[in-house]
Amino acid sequence: MARYTDASCRLCRREGEKLFLKGERCTTNKCSITRRAYAPGHHGQNRKKLSEYGIQLREKQKARRYYGVLESQFRKYFDMAVKKKGITGENLLQILELRLDNVVYRMGLAASRPEARQLVRHGHFTVNGKKVNIPSYLVKLGDVVAVREKSKGTTKMKDNKELAAVKPSPKWIEYDAEEMSAKVVALPLREDIDLPIKESLIVELYSK
Ligand code: SF4
Repeated sequence: MARYTDASCRLCRREGEKLFLKGERCTTNKCSITRRAYAPGHHGQNRKKLSEYGIQLREKQKARRYYGVLESQFRKYFDMAVKKKGITGENLLQILELRLDNVVYRMGLAASRPEARQLVRHGHFTVNGKKVNIPSYLVKLGDVVAVREKSKGTTKMKDNKELAAVKPSPKWIEYDAEEMSAKVVALPLREDIDLPIKESLIVELYSK
């Protein structure tokens, strides 16, 4: 399955929630969900009551869309979460948070997760000093994510450095604004993840 490339705002309207996929626009009144708070498509305004399965499915789709993950990869993360010690749903969110593109977004160096993914793909970041251009790369405790030396002077990175200066990082990341780098000082816990995802519904869905 190819990555979904249709208008990001349709995804938010489909889920009935802001997924913050477009950076600054998401906090203005240009946000599509503010203007048209119903699902896209011909029957978008006639939303039916969802079944239990439908509710679980929507929760999974919402989580996938927040992090920009394809179904097959999301399923792999779930299988990893099952094998880890602890609560499966919380393990799943922790794995998603540790994706390199998400860490870049959490550092504040991108206005949205899609932008972070693109910056990683373009090779602007290192992990422990080595260039990594794989957005799904999972960082580990103690890893240091940094902007590559030669990328620091680009207009985009200069702008994003200012963005990062005003955006607080989560407590599991220690961000060094001068170096444009961050150390993973703890593993993210559920209370550190500010997304309105009911992970237990995803576990129920995959456990059927
Ligand atoms: Fe979603 Fe942002 Fe589009 Fe609003 S502007 S609908 S939050 S992607």
